[in-house]
Amino acid sequence: MVLWWAIVVFILGAVVGSFLNVCIHRLPREESIVFPSSRCPHCRHAIAWYDNIPLFSYIFLRGRCRSCQETISGRYFFIEALTAVMALFTYWKFGISLAFLAAFLFVATLIVITFIDIEHQIIPHKIVLPGIPVFLLAAVFIMGIPLIDAFLGIMIGIASLYLVAVYYEQITGTEGMGGGDVNLMGMLGAFLGWKALLFVLMTGAFIGAAVGIIMMIKEGKTMKYAVPFGPFLSLGAVVYLFWGRAIVNCFS
Ligand SMILES: [Zn+2]
Repeated sequence: MVLWWAIVVFILGAVVGSFLNVCIHRLPREESIVFPSSRCPHCRHAIAWYDNIPLFSYIFLRGRCRSCQETISGRYFFIEALTAVMALFTYWKFGISLAFLAAFLFVATLIVITFIDIEHQIIPHKIVLPGIPVFLLAAVFIMGIPLIDAFLGIMIGIASLYLVAVYYEQITGTEGMGGGDVNLMGMLGAFLGWKALLFVLMTGAFIGAAVGIIMMIKEGKTMKYAVPFGPFLSLGAVVYLFWGRAIVNCFS
């Protein structure tokens, strides 16, 4: 790692994170992600460029809107910081390369999906459906995944999660998983290849079950409480992207 590159990547990550915040807020609301410019969610006052500097503005304004003084959700700061840190991880793993760009696009897409799913319990088709061909091409031409592996990744990803969804519905009697999760698994398979899917599913299910049990104990919720599955699949995919080969080698 070269320090200067690490700094550049961190700043790039924070700037992209700021854009991801806009996507997370506007995509489920069917608003344009380009116009109008950023506005305070409370008073709709347009945010000046000097109040829209990633990470710094939030700290400088102490998380409040300059115009109406209402608190701005800490999620904005968190996502900028998270994206910046994930950019650093991606640089650490792939260096400055096309693979870095492809992997970072993948991680950024999963951050958007995760936070939309947590807030709205949906995974927008307009992200995942174009994502499947885009990440298939990136996997084959940039990441060196054989075309057959990426193609089978889509097929097996969609089929496996469809079966999980049907099974889940049968044992809990509720529709816990939607079409969004099924398509998301296809997108993950496209980029990582079908061999990654079992790892992604098991890691996602394990973390999801652990979080679900903690929430049930803390809040007294029943099994019927729908834990959005998208974030855990996404987390499993990111773990595989960075450490998958090392972990799989441990067990084989
Ligand atoms: Zn305001």
